[in-house]
Amino acid sequence: MNQTLTLALSKGRIFDETLPLLEAAGIHVTEDPEKSRKLILTTSDPQLRVVIVRASDVPTYVQYGAADFGVAGKDVLLEHGGEGLYQPVDLQIAKCRMSVAVQAGFDYASAVRQGARLRVATKYVQVAREHFAAKGVHVDLIKLYGSMELGPLVGLSDAIVDLVSTGSTLRANHLVEVEHIMEISSRLVVNQAALKLKREKLQPIVDAFAKASLREK
Ligand code: ATP
Ligand code: MG
Repeated sequence: MNQTLTLALSKGRIFDETLPLLEAAGIHVTEDPEKSRKLILTTSDPQLRVVIVRASDVPTYVQYGAADFGVAGKDVLLEHGGEGLYQPVDLQIAKCRMSVAVQAGFDYASAVRQGARLRVATKYVQVAREHFAAKGVHVDLIKLYGSMELGPLVGLSDAIVDLVSTGSTLRANHLVEVEHIMEISSRLVVNQAALKLKREKLQPIVDAFAKASLREK
């Protein structure tokens, strides 16, 4: 049985914060995705390669088995739906929160109380829909792919649903957090077939990640 593994990661914080977990599994990534344009990176383990994909595409590569495993944020997994994915470990990395924010001065509480239809711009349409439905708030959702902070500033929306860590991007754009929806961290996701067929090679890495992630936080 071919036990060669492909790990899907996105550039930036997920790649950077997964490196120590790989080191804990005795694996060193031998190329830097910020310096090279290569999308397939070799590692110190000849049987493991890393592919660099868009953060929101990680679950798709793993679902279809193009990658055996990957690291994806809970935000991304909730939007994807998690179909075909086994999620054995919360890695406790790339932590932030998903929040509702509005322009400073916008009376969110009374807008919600009055039952007005709220216009909400977000990349996280599934999470936003469920959040407002659970509260019984009527919303018109506007799908964006980035720079959500701009929405309320130019009159596209009353509110945004976005990820917040320090809050400095919100502050820089005169927005305030009015509701905290959920805590976000990144998970290890594994293709369900790969876990059965490549268990011998995959399980020790999953175990090392689980052990190393206990030290995060
Ligand atoms: P793309 O850049 O492809 O549009 P993205 O902006 O979601 O996607 P990253 O910024 O690399 O990509 O974020 C990857 C993951 O890291 C997100 O899915 C989320 O789980 C987490 N994340 C996003 N923003 C923050 C933040 N400010 N602090 C901590 N973690 C974050
Ligand atoms: Mg980003």
